[in-house]
Amino acid sequence: MQHLTVLGTGVLGSQIIFQSAYSGKDVVAYDLSGDILAKLPERWEYLKAAYRRDVPDASEEKLDAAVSRIRATADLADAVSAADIIIEAVPERLDIKQQTWEKVAAVAPERTIFCTNSSTLLPSDIAPFTGRPARFLALHFANEVWKFNTGEVMGHAGTDPEVFEEVAVFAEQIGMVPIRVNKEQPGYVLNSLLVPFLNAAAALFVKGVASPEDIDKTWTIATGAPVGPFRIYDVVGMMTPYNLSKDSADPTMREFAEVLKRDYIDKGYLGKGAGRGFYSY
Ligand code: NAD
Repeated sequence: MQHLTVLGTGVLGSQIIFQSAYSGKDVVAYDLSGDILAKLPERWEYLKAAYRRDVPDASEEKLDAAVSRIRATADLADAVSAADIIIEAVPERLDIKQQTWEKVAAVAPERTIFCTNSSTLLPSDIAPFTGRPARFLALHFANEVWKFNTGEVMGHAGTDPEVFEEVAVFAEQIGMVPIRVNKEQPGYVLNSLLVPFLNAAAALFVKGVASPEDIDKTWTIATGAPVGPFRIYDVVGMMTPYNLSKDSADPTMREFAEVLKRDYIDKGYLGKGAGRGFYSY
């Protein structure tokens, strides 16, 4: 599959576009307006700097070639007309995803495979809106795809197994390590492990059992892991755990949300990106 179209050019969409082009694919970047697409050159400069830093073989020639393989358009029919595969990275709202796929279904070639990069929505919730449920599944990337290169491939009950396998092969071609998620699972593999782990760390902290530093030390020293849960919170940023915890059914998690707001968010300690979270950077 040589021709990829990516819907949505935000944080993840722009990374998927650049990584795929860097890996030799021809990529069409679609977003809602020309104004949004006009910001893409800035994104490429940001990503080029990241690749220079993190990707050993990232020469200027390769980085420029990647940009030259990307075409941007705000015309949906034009964007998908030659696509072998489409990856959707529009905002994480079921109504937006459903409407997007309905529109795409009306204009995409029959052969095209449809993938969503949704982190929390299930393929089975979106499949009925694609017009081709057998050719629809999730290909889920992690933020900073050039470095944290898992590609979680996950279908719904009606996904054609051959399409599933084609997407796993495609993921490998663009430098991902394909993770075959054989059953539909909220959170895929990664977040099914990570979320309970981070919640357990939060509970130890708000119950006063141990400090964030000592919880992290326990995890890194005793298991050999490079970072502990509070370093991970700092990378994710405080707003995501706050939003996920504030209305939790679990009173400990609601207390965690209050602590995050009072002691971190309200003071501007939003995480690593802000220079300070649980740690200073
Ligand atoms: P984002 O807000 O940075 O980008 C969304 C993009 O979609 C924007 O460019 C916006 O203009 C565009 N958009 C809005 N409505 C659209 C429409 N109807 N059609 C086409 N484009 C539209 O969001 P993001 O963080 O890149 O997340 C996108 C998807 O990727 C979500 O499903 C999210 O769950 C998933 N994801 C995000 C991360 C992450 O760390 N940010 C990690 C893995 C997966």
